[in-house]
Amino acid sequence: MTTVLGCIADDFTGATDLAGLLARSGVQVSLRIGVPTEPPKDTGPFEVIALKSRTALVAEAVAETRAALAWLKAAGAQRFFWKYCSTFDSTAEGNIGPVAEALMADLGTDQTIYCPAFPENGRAIFMGNLFVGQQPLAESPMKDHPLTPMRDSNLMRLLAPQVTQAVGLADRLTVAQGAEALRAKLEALRAQGTAHVVVDAVANADLEIIAQACRNMPLMTGGSAVAMPLPDLYLADGTLSADAPKVPAPQVAADTVILSGSCSAMTNAQVAAYLATGAPAYQLDPLSLAQTGSADVLAWLAAQDLTAAPLIYATADPDSVKAAQAQLGVAEAGALIEKTLADCAVAARDAGARRFIVAGGETSGAVTQALDVTRLDIGVEIAAGVPWTFCTSAGQQIALTLKSGNFGAEGFFDDAQKRLG
Ligand code: ADP
Repeated sequence: MTTVLGCIADDFTGATDLAGLLARSGVQVSLRIGVPTEPPKDTGPFEVIALKSRTALVAEAVAETRAALAWLKAAGAQRFFWKYCSTFDSTAEGNIGPVAEALMADLGTDQTIYCPAFPENGRAIFMGNLFVGQQPLAESPMKDHPLTPMRDSNLMRLLAPQVTQAVGLADRLTVAQGAEALRAKLEALRAQGTAHVVVDAVANADLEIIAQACRNMPLMTGGSAVAMPLPDLYLADGTLSADAPKVPAPQVAADTVILSGSCSAMTNAQVAAYLATGAPAYQLDPLSLAQTGSADVLAWLAAQDLTAAPLIYATADPDSVKAAQAQLGVAEAGALIEKTLADCAVAARDAGARRFIVAGGETSGAVTQALDVTRLDIGVEIAAGVPWTFCTSAGQQIALTLKSGNFGAEGFFDDAQKRLG
């Protein structure tokens, strides 16, 4: 069917997060990994294209995003959403501003909004200043991010050097007056030539108002949360027909494999909780992998009963990770484990696994690539920001969940299995 909203996300887990929030409304959401090489076919009402452009060179990010826009336009979309991180991860060069200006130029629109707020996750904007929990952005751990250190909390000041046109603010006092007042404020700013408008939001109710006021703008930009109300609004105003396809729930055999390459504190707790259930598990040791390769783990996997949902994990505490990295190098240790887990995913699929539970952002990238998955249909949510997805791999229908490091509760690996029934 014709796409109602075309979304572009600047990284993979951000795209899954957005897709999951849109699917909460029960509508079908499709996620594409990278700009599809084929013209649109079998598109859904909500299409999300995942790019890896957050820290790419500005020109590359702009070119990739424009290609994504062209594909979504060809799918019939007339409204678009540019999704970036709720901590506004960017540098003085970009890529949030330059990408937004390029999209605006291609769409022939003279104004857009910026709303990275995600109140459920503690991201709030007040008077144009972004807070992470109770801390201003520039005092939060984001000040030390290795690629995009955020040293200012004021979104107007962060955005201004990234764009060529005027930046303004629609503050919480306006938002609190409702959608009409916000629309009037945006119009007044437009009349003054303000192309880029930061919009305050501290609670989900603010996001509802913003989405209502801005739902017919050609381009909205923000974190995932401000897009969450859009499907229900489009259903209510008839933009999306009530018989639009719903969240899919195909029958997928219960043979399962769990692959964990994340070393975050939460994934460590999730692995420990799963080991405590007595489930079959194999721990990957990067040093022995470097010496003897993956034959041992593949032999172990081949001997497993996949209905018992075996776990293969490299997840380790920070000291063990540092020790492995000191011996092998950071990138080499990571690449070796990602390759091994990706090989395990393919071997498990060929042995009949149809449900894959994967922990780790980079690990998820490696596994989806190895399984040659390019389109995922978003299914039920397991934990906030972590849905089950459905896709095909080597001609087989499979279910896949991709969990970024800190997401999910301690029982995630069991929760995921139960959620699919
Ligand atoms: P997260 O979402 O928690 O950041 P990622 O999968 O993105 O997880 O990143 C974890 C990285 O650490 C991957 O590159 C993975 O291969 C690597 N890794 C996993 N286990 C170990 C280990 N025991 N020693 C060294 N590196 C590891």
